[in-house]
Amino acid sequence: MSRITALFEPELLLALEGVDELDKMRAEPNPFWNRARLDITWQLPVMSGMLNEPTISVQPMRYATREELNLFHDYSYIETLELFGNMGSAFSARFGLDTDECPVFQDVDKYASLPVGATIDATMRVANGEFEDAMSFVGGFHHAMKTKAAGFCYYNDCVIGIKKLKEKRPNDRILYLDTDVHHGDGTQGAFYDDPNVLTISMHEYSMGFFPGTGRVEENGVGDGKGYSVNVPLPPLTGDVEFWTAFEELVVPIWLAYKPHFVFWNVGADGHMNDPLADLMLTLDTYHRLSMTVRQLVHLGTRKLVILGGGGYNPVTAAKVWTIVLADLADVALPPILPAKWIELCRKYGYDVIRGGWIDRPLRTDDDHYPKIRRAVDETIEKVKELIFPTFGLEK
Ligand SMILES: [Zn+2]
Repeated sequence: MSRITALFEPELLLALEGVDELDKMRAEPNPFWNRARLDITWQLPVMSGMLNEPTISVQPMRYATREELNLFHDYSYIETLELFGNMGSAFSARFGLDTDECPVFQDVDKYASLPVGATIDATMRVANGEFEDAMSFVGGFHHAMKTKAAGFCYYNDCVIGIKKLKEKRPNDRILYLDTDVHHGDGTQGAFYDDPNVLTISMHEYSMGFFPGTGRVEENGVGDGKGYSVNVPLPPLTGDVEFWTAFEELVVPIWLAYKPHFVFWNVGADGHMNDPLADLMLTLDTYHRLSMTVRQLVHLGTRKLVILGGGGYNPVTAAKVWTIVLADLADVALPPILPAKWIELCRKYGYDVIRGGWIDRPLRTDDDHYPKIRRAVDETIEKVKELIFPTFGLEK
């Protein structure tokens, strides 16, 4: 079988009613739901010519059915969102809706549903061998709960994709790796007692930082004890410390768990340019991550679905996801960013200062570095102590 990566295109999302109204509805423009972000991120691989490569197959998103949404979400919540989508004016704090982060707008239900349909298709078509792997830029809504929207997330496509897969392959060991800068709370919560879904979340953890969960001690309950892994990182954590934690924790746990199927929620918001978070990762770390994830998947059953996750500097998110896609599909990046794309970014008010694929190397102040390193080392030790015995690993 020739190896083909499926890539889900957000054209249907861009065509929905209300996308351009968001900025007008809110005093503050929403950093997630806006045309600039969707368009800039998608157009980078398009304008780079990467999507003409034979190893990439572009697939449309589709709406998830109510039954599919109900694999995780209550009908009361689904119906409320549908009502909002049609009426555009109802209000309910009970469901976490109509807030700055999860605003209500015309077609909001469709907006929420399309990424779920895409993640399900990505999952099932990789599971049945049609595609080697799959990626959806607009996916990874890890904060959505059973009956509650939160943190830009309405429906949790990660949870629904995993549940759908479990229907077909109930005995598979599933790994959900979440490197989005925010804790993957909704996904973790859905499988907190399930040893067949190992969730690993690496995220910023600091005072007042959303969503406020994701301590090492949150490591599962019942049969699932040890199968929720959290690697909280202090603000200003950079490439070196992040990578140390990944190599010392994620790699051995992954190898011991031997997953049959892997979901990776990338999250471009750990990058140092992100306006909503405080980690200091560079594009280099995302390239390393994607190469390593691919290698680890290839050691096993080669089933991988990648979701874009957060990322609120659209220029950076575009670069991160395009780098991951290039690594995944074995496609070369263009040596310089396409002039047309730089123009598109400008049109939306984003200047592209560096024309290539690397960041200017940057270290935090010398006196910060040992402190961060110490904090990350302490986290690594704590995770080893709490989690390694579950996998028969030595500290
Ligand atoms: Zn995030």
